[in-house]
Amino acid sequence: MAIDKKNIHYFSQGKGFGKAVDRDTFGIRARLVVDLAEKNIPVLPGVIFDSQCADWIDEESLDYEKDLKKYFDMFALELGKRFGDENHPLLLKYVISPNRAIADYPLLHNIGLARDTVEGFADKVGSVFTSNELLFLMQGETRIEKAIAEIEEDTKKIKEYTDLLKDIADASKDKAKNTDPLKIIEKFEKRMPEGFFESAEKQACYMLRTISYLLYKEKDDEDDECDTAIFIQPMVYGNYTKNSCSGSCMSRNVITGEKVIQGQFYDEAYNELFTPGKPIEKIEKKYYQQLTKISGLLEDEFKDIRSIRFTIENSKLWVIDQKSVEQRSTASQLMLYFDLLNRKLIDEKTLIDAFKPSQLSELLHPVIDFTSVKGLQQVEGGIAGAPGAAVGRVYFSTDELLEAKKLAKQKGEDTRCILLMCATYAGDVKAIEQSTGVLSNEGGYSAHASVVSRQYGKISLVRPDMKIMNHKAKIGDMIINQGDYITLNVPYYGTPVIYKGEAKLVQPNPDKLGLLDMVNVCKKYLGNFTVRANADSPKDAELALKFGADGVGLCRTEHMFFAEDRINVFRSMILAENAAERKKMLSQIKKFQVKDFYGILKTMAGKHCTIRLLDSPLHEFLPHNDNEMNALLEHLKKNGVKMTKADLQARVDALAESNPMLGHRGCRIAVSYPEIYEMQTQAIFEAACKLKKEKIPVYPEVMVPIIMNSTELKLIVYGKKIEGSNYKGLIDIADETIAASGVKGLDYKIGTMIELPGAAIGAGEIARYAQFFSFGTNDLTQTTLGLSRDDFNSFMPDYSTFDLIEGNPFATLDPRVRQLIEIATERGKASRPDLKIGLCGEHGARPENIKFCMDTGLNYVSCSAYSVPIALLSVAKINLGLQL
Ligand code: PEP
Ligand code: MG
Repeated sequence: MAIDKKNIHYFSQGKGFGKAVDRDTFGIRARLVVDLAEKNIPVLPGVIFDSQCADWIDEESLDYEKDLKKYFDMFALELGKRFGDENHPLLLKYVISPNRAIADYPLLHNIGLARDTVEGFADKVGSVFTSNELLFLMQGETRIEKAIAEIEEDTKKIKEYTDLLKDIADASKDKAKNTDPLKIIEKFEKRMPEGFFESAEKQACYMLRTISYLLYKEKDDEDDECDTAIFIQPMVYGNYTKNSCSGSCMSRNVITGEKVIQGQFYDEAYNELFTPGKPIEKIEKKYYQQLTKISGLLEDEFKDIRSIRFTIENSKLWVIDQKSVEQRSTASQLMLYFDLLNRKLIDEKTLIDAFKPSQLSELLHPVIDFTSVKGLQQVEGGIAGAPGAAVGRVYFSTDELLEAKKLAKQKGEDTRCILLMCATYAGDVKAIEQSTGVLSNEGGYSAHASVVSRQYGKISLVRPDMKIMNHKAKIGDMIINQGDYITLNVPYYGTPVIYKGEAKLVQPNPDKLGLLDMVNVCKKYLGNFTVRANADSPKDAELALKFGADGVGLCRTEHMFFAEDRINVFRSMILAENAAERKKMLSQIKKFQVKDFYGILKTMAGKHCTIRLLDSPLHEFLPHNDNEMNALLEHLKKNGVKMTKADLQARVDALAESNPMLGHRGCRIAVSYPEIYEMQTQAIFEAACKLKKEKIPVYPEVMVPIIMNSTELKLIVYGKKIEGSNYKGLIDIADETIAASGVKGLDYKIGTMIELPGAAIGAGEIARYAQFFSFGTNDLTQTTLGLSRDDFNSFMPDYSTFDLIEGNPFATLDPRVRQLIEIATERGKASRPDLKIGLCGEHGARPENIKFCMDTGLNYVSCSAYSVPIALLSVAKINLGLQL
């Protein structure tokens, strides 16, 4: 059978095929090149034997003069060198192009290097280079022969080719000896197919037939259709003439995303791996401009940052290969996508689809200020366990780190510590949590230290070559002693570095990184669902707003009492003997609270702010060490309270609880001491009224924590009068405060957290007294599973080892917790259809939990300010039906 012309396709830059040609017969690799040629990218011309004919190019069908020469002459016209020319030979590469993505065919290069051409080629590129290219050609051909022998199960031949490949590999290693290509031909000629080196023309035909035979043999059934094409391209060499070079570049800066090509080129060198290249900016201007233009075209075509390999032969630039760049920063990808979006080459849905929500957190890690590491000793290398940058003093054990941190805190010194150990175990989790980073010796990305560091947002580096002995670590020439400052730089891309000393860290600047642009796009696709932030201070609120939060979903007010100027007043209040004394202390604290609430509400002007009343067990506020005891005694003394240390200790001991998380906390404190919530509620509304008078719109939402049943909430919200006792409800306090300020029409809500299983089950009743619910999934998980949220991490690795639990229930909502949320939502809405429902536990930042919340009919999630962009992207993806 003769080859039908319709199965042979010639292409070159700017010249492709019309729609009539079926590109599915080209295979993936040929299709890609043809696409580029059609886009006018300077790729080498080529001829494709499509899959309809590739597997039956046999002795009879292939006629050099008729089937090949014509195309090779066309190559000659474009390249100025001719196939088979003794002085100036054109060589070819054959590419096997299947329709499957994964194929492990050998590279078949330098076809046409035979007795008649080898010297002419060596004249141009040198005999060492020619010898190596010759060996490479032989290797490719032998691998094809071996693959055929394997299909034919010809053990004798398999052995023969295996030995030959080994000898070719050995000969390739000994580069210095390969100075005469003709000698190589002589040495191997007998072991290669007959006549292989006789002439370029014979070699070309022989190889094409051999490849075709392999494709034929690879089919399961003779009658099956072949889906693999073969295409032939001429080869160019960056060392062929004086006006030649080769190199590679990326279409933009892969770290910053700046649209400036990056890369290097090699003048004379043929072995790029071992020779330092020159920076691409130094290449002749016309080539730089051409590469910039090509990079832009390729980016637009592939919607991706591209890496481009090029060769300039005899002053003509050819794109040899181009592919996606895996190691690129999220910032650079964002820059590219916004560039494409602004030029309307992609739409917003494509942009949203291109990023994984968690990827955005990469834009929020600190990085090293490289000007601050000058002069610091440094060692490079290691395995990135958790990327980012960390500074701290080194401690060699958990106990030492925790002790050092405590002391530093007491002395007001720098508390940043780095844990340095061979390996970490469950007992070290608390030190990892308290550290800025971990430097360890054993394992890798999935080592305990790496896994836990990522979980806690810490930096982790594994250095298998580090030696640790007697509180000293040695890495290369660097010696690290206990207490020494080190800086870990563990970039997402590139080599990690340890600096001996304290480098400056630069906090990420999301304004510059495209993050805020992304947030703005996502916000268009939120539908009815919103994302709020957990924010305890005006500063948090500001950050949250910047990251796109639609209000505050949780303001934990207890954090405000820990400030240095308040803690002892608050402690005095806890220790007070009666309500009158307590009120006196509380009135001192109120002015601080008004200021805090004013700041948060003002920052979030026009948006809803959920302020949670005191939740922490009183126990947590009591002095925990001698220093704190003394400071409190001093404070009491100053305020005219006489108390001995022993008395104070006795009071503290009496207030201590054995299980405080299930003890006197949340609304239970308000049941015993209503004046605390009274003060907080007054503070909220005094702040709100002040802002209202300043014409700033405010929407405060007062939230009661740890409700276990409706009667508690009813008492706190509506109050109760019983004989001799009048419990004033939050509504009365709010209304009185508003009335006293003279403000009219201040819109507010009172609601509750649902964070106990009892509350979730009793949600129908509870909703009668709550205008909104917010699921506190940290406590809800803790109380549903009976699993301490503070202690679980120490034994979680064991649970993971034995597959007792899928993931971390404090990160991904447990199915039982999900059920409780569903029950509470359904029952709550049944008794109050307009009930607003959110979720404010740590789970609110995880895409899979957000999907659940949306499916269950919640109105919003609330998470830390830094997680708001991640949540916004998740919501947008879900609403657009995209994969998370
Ligand atoms: C919760 O329990 O999920 C919650 C948000 O409250 P906290 O973490 O303050 O207990
Ligand atoms: Mg809670």
